[in-house]
Amino acid sequence: MNEKLLDGKRLAAEIRGEVGERVAGLAARGIVPRLDVILVGDDPASRVYVGAKARACEKLGMASGTHRLEAGAGQAAVERLVDDLNADPGVDGILVQLPLPDGYDTHAVLDRIDPAKDVDGFHPLNVGLLQQGRPALVACTPAGIMELLRREKIPVEGRRAVIVGRSDIVGKPLAMLLLHAHATVTLCHSRTRDLAAVTGQADILVAAAGKLALIGPEHVKPGAVVIDVGIHRITERETVERLFPGDEARMARFEAKGSVLAGDVDFVRVAPLASRITPVPGGVGPLTIAMLMANTVRAASLRRGIEA
Ligand code: NAD
Repeated sequence: MNEKLLDGKRLAAEIRGEVGERVAGLAARGIVPRLDVILVGDDPASRVYVGAKARACEKLGMASGTHRLEAGAGQAAVERLVDDLNADPGVDGILVQLPLPDGYDTHAVLDRIDPAKDVDGFHPLNVGLLQQGRPALVACTPAGIMELLRREKIPVEGRRAVIVGRSDIVGKPLAMLLLHAHATVTLCHSRTRDLAAVTGQADILVAAAGKLALIGPEHVKPGAVVIDVGIHRITERETVERLFPGDEARMARFEAKGSVLAGDVDFVRVAPLASRITPVPGGVGPLTIAMLMANTVRAASLRRGIEA
């Protein structure tokens, strides 16, 4: 079983090590890459993510800034803050933690970020460059998945890749990256008919639908590589028992913390079929944050005309 697991935690540590070396290289030239995060409102999960991003920067010798605005601060205040960070020459990366509270125009905020500082890769210029196959700053979760495939030597060229989920954050940019890596790509979504018939053809199956345990054994071709992007916090004991029968370690974690994490893939039932599979937690999640660090260093380099 263990040799099947795609260990995102280990790969993320590897990537962070390489990013740390590049940070040291920039430090020798008097440059300290800096990431600034904007958090609007007090969504608890968003606060945890923002804290983790700041800590990850510090650990790598990078600088960070966290800007907290009240949920009611208003569109103009958020846009002003983005303008200030755009104008600040010491800031290399700007990230607006999503989702913004109700009432905000997310596109208007993201469009305002200087594309050279757009470390989330959501600005239309960066999205367009990716589409044309000349990526500059690429969305972190899809970039992390490509790193995982590359580092684990999973062949992509000529393979059939099926992605469940067509969000701007995961599904669509990942489809472009896989396409440029010469996979035959299919995007599925909530209106796809007979999902299992489509996913069942995948050599590489990526689940990014945001639906707990959506992908069961009926969706998976034997031998497929299964990548689980979904993150769900399970707080009901019956759900843990149903999805992870006999998993004493997970139940102990549930008893201790009152919740456990799981993904879009019904891991226990799908893992026996898969040739390789990512766990949740410890799969795609750690790679996302490692790629955010990599993107910040890349932005710091590109902005100064240094080879990234
Ligand atoms: P989203 O809600 O924006 O998009 C979900 C997509 O899935 C939509 O395109 C929808 O059409 C599709 N979908 C929903 N139900 C479906 C169904 N039954 N069958 C087929 N398709 C269906 O979600 P998102 O922002 O892309 O996030 C997806 C999941 O990934 C969430 O669980 C989120 O928490 C997680 N996520 C994880 C990371 C990470 O670092 N691991 C990063 C981003 C998102």
